[in-house]
Amino acid sequence: MKTKLFAIKHPAPTKMKRSIWPIFLPFAGCKKRCIFCSQEISTGRKKVKDFKALVSKELTELEFRAKKNNKVYGVGFFGGTFTGLPYELQSWILERVVKLRCKNIVDFVCLSTRPDFINNEVAELLKSKNVDLVELGIQSFDSEVLDVANRGYTLSTILKAIHYLKKYNLKYGFQLLPGLPKHNLAKFWQDIELTICLKPSTLRIYPCLVLENTLLAKLYRLEQYRPWSIEKTVYALGFALLDIWRNNIKILRIGLTPERSLLANIIAGPWHEALGFMVRSFALNMYLKRLIASLSWQPTSLEVPSRYLSELWGYKNVYQQFWYNLVNGPTFIKIGPFKEFVFMG
Ligand code: SF4
Repeated sequence: MKTKLFAIKHPAPTKMKRSIWPIFLPFAGCKKRCIFCSQEISTGRKKVKDFKALVSKELTELEFRAKKNNKVYGVGFFGGTFTGLPYELQSWILERVVKLRCKNIVDFVCLSTRPDFINNEVAELLKSKNVDLVELGIQSFDSEVLDVANRGYTLSTILKAIHYLKKYNLKYGFQLLPGLPKHNLAKFWQDIELTICLKPSTLRIYPCLVLENTLLAKLYRLEQYRPWSIEKTVYALGFALLDIWRNNIKILRIGLTPERSLLANIIAGPWHEALGFMVRSFALNMYLKRLIASLSWQPTSLEVPSRYLSELWGYKNVYQQFWYNLVNGPTFIKIGPFKEFVFMG
């Protein structure tokens, strides 16, 4: 009898490996505080008084390291509303990076901001300074959710921001924050649907956590807000990831970076150090299981690319037994430097 064979690549789009030198400017350019936000806690950095001094210090250090390691870096400005800073200051900061680009020390620059701080003048400035990626803190597209979170803009503001970024041919990414007050699974699917329609190059998903010293913490303590559980978050983000991968959007991060200051100040919410891994693993397993279900034959052996083995097995090997059962035991699973998952029957 002829062997049946089915080969498939990991569904995630390939990521460009790049070392980003992050420069955190907590609350820089923010005109008000969103209910969930505590940049000091999530970035571990204090509010900055002298932005020029901080940026100069960081870029000098970056230049030193780049020369020492003979390496080219990307630069990322995070932690605030970059384009909410005075125009001259934005221009001064970006010009410093342009100079490093001319010296071949920097080859990429990205910054995070809010959609309501993108207009024609700002987009023109970012283009003129060779900004490569503008990350928009969208959080959700739902007006009720945005309102309760004190974001202060609507869907039409987001669309306008994208219009200006496209006009100047600037690449943009989104940041989503599922699980805010008034958010739910249905609204999250809508957020993902709109994200896919609006075609960002990149996406970060930060499930909503209750952090100390935020208005959300007060709501939580008054029992007016209940965060998502880990299980619900993994389920929701895992299914979303399948659509995101299919549409070739690169996921830059799932869940906040485990800064020490963050860990000490999480009051509640879906925090797990392996959250991103759990979500990716859930999505990969869903993807492969759906494909197997669509085959007209039963696989009896399997080849697994070694780089994806832990993702296939899942956190604490939750999915391992499924794959053993499928092919009648570990003997029929071959692990190696393969490029694809191969099912044979
Ligand atoms: S979420 Fe962004 S815009 Fe809101 S306060 Fe924090 S840094 Fe500023």
